[in-house]
Amino acid sequence: MTGSTKYIFVTGGVTSSLGKGIVSASLAKLLQARGFTVTIQKLDPYINIDPGTLNPYEHGECYVTEDGAETDLDLGHYERFLDTPTSQANNVTTGRIYQNVINKERRGEYLGKTVQVIPHITDEIKRNIQLLGRKGIYDFVITEVGGTVGDIESLPYVEAIRQLKWEKGRDALSIHLTLLPYLSTTGELKTKPTQHSVKELLSLGVQPDILVCRTEHAMLKGMKEKIALFCNVDQQAVIESADAETIYDVPLLMQEEQLDVVVLEKLGIANYPDADLDRWREFLRRHKNPTRTVQIGLVGKYVELRDAYKSIKEALDHGGAENETRVEIRWIHSEKLTSKNVTKHLGGLSAILVAPGFGHRGIEGKIEAVRFARENKVPFLGICLGMQCAVIEFARNVLGHAEANSTEMEPDTKWPVISMMEEQKAKVDKGGTMRLGAYPCKLGEGTLTALAYGKTSIKERHRHRYEFNSAYLGEFQKAGMIAAGVNPQTKLVEVVELKDHPWFVGVQYHPEYKSTVARPHPLFTRFVQVALDHQAEVAAKDHVKA
Ligand code: GLN
Repeated sequence: MTGSTKYIFVTGGVTSSLGKGIVSASLAKLLQARGFTVTIQKLDPYINIDPGTLNPYEHGECYVTEDGAETDLDLGHYERFLDTPTSQANNVTTGRIYQNVINKERRGEYLGKTVQVIPHITDEIKRNIQLLGRKGIYDFVITEVGGTVGDIESLPYVEAIRQLKWEKGRDALSIHLTLLPYLSTTGELKTKPTQHSVKELLSLGVQPDILVCRTEHAMLKGMKEKIALFCNVDQQAVIESADAETIYDVPLLMQEEQLDVVVLEKLGIANYPDADLDRWREFLRRHKNPTRTVQIGLVGKYVELRDAYKSIKEALDHGGAENETRVEIRWIHSEKLTSKNVTKHLGGLSAILVAPGFGHRGIEGKIEAVRFARENKVPFLGICLGMQCAVIEFARNVLGHAEANSTEMEPDTKWPVISMMEEQKAKVDKGGTMRLGAYPCKLGEGTLTALAYGKTSIKERHRHRYEFNSAYLGEFQKAGMIAAGVNPQTKLVEVVELKDHPWFVGVQYHPEYKSTVARPHPLFTRFVQVALDHQAEVAAKDHVKA
């Protein structure tokens, strides 16, 4: 629709954590709402090849794409906002850039030249940015650069932006996201850090076209003029980005500030259609005006760091909105759960979700949480490690194999009900070697999961090394834990359910990655629904007692 692909670069200044991902996703949403095709890419200036090997304490959740890339959690926002899949090409790190350049050097492709940051690293960055544009399907490629301008590690990225802006002329523009700090002693917002940050960018040869200014308080009259004057930007290109009630409000706030209009005008695009955000507004209306509230427990070992469970939290919000329900998450630290205190921690919850994870820490607490949900008939959803814990718990407490475990936790366990997948055994490298990305799954007719999805053929994303050990399947099924979903090719058990329980579902895959504003994930929608049912049942019983 735009003729050639337009490139929009988003950098950050003053401090990190200003929400570049949300601003980028919001701009993309606004452009998409006008009928344009948009994709967003994140460039991360760290040396890891991808965040797959990073501890969630370092970098929050690792988001997995359809094609099996382990990526930054911002890609989750991109998909949730746009409802279009991202891929490996949407997240590139310095590690990957250098790896590509070094591989090329080893193949002799630099023909004897000295390989340098400029032009070889910057060329590789530019190639990766334009890769998405070359697909010919996007009107806009928005490229967000992680980190803060002025960091040593982001220098090659800013240089690549400088060059691309020069080469592309009116087909490229740059947005700089900054902070207007509020000084409570004088009650003022200050513009100086923004001025300095723009100077820093200018010293690297990049003149930002648009400034998005994050503020805790409304900007005063005259402030935009002042920033415009000091930073060589048009006054209407100084965009106020006030703190929002929810991340889903940001596109609408950016629309009020006309961010998309300024972008379109600067890129020379005229006669664009009006934005259709009806669906978005409808979601927001449901999300912000719930008629009911339900409490769901999320049991995990990183609960002090909410970013570690970002997609799960958002998927619960989406499922909540579908039910016009506010989902209150009670964050429960799995390491602190024991058989003695489990009732105190989990009592009164309308549903329990046991989270994914790796390694031994907190596993026994997760198993206690499963036991509580199973015995007390509280709706349960186990995701990945959460599903594996459900299997271990069943083996220990129903089948009577007290020492059952996953070989991840106890390699020599006598009862390896969860064991390493065959193809994993020969793998030595840790990075990018798990079972990753989307795989098909066939759900049993009439199972809770098939009812939730409304179909029996699904495709969901995976990220794990261990699996349900099918050698025990017969024993499990006889005792009431059924394989409700299997991989049609490999026959791996992907979903388990309990017969003798109102709603107990364990999934080996990660449904949370596929929940978007436009299409809340059916499993989460149903999970919130059954939590509401449980809440109503408990209330009815209490009423009878009283
Ligand atoms: N640690 C488990 C495995 O590798 C589960 C992984 C997960 O929860 N994502 O199989």
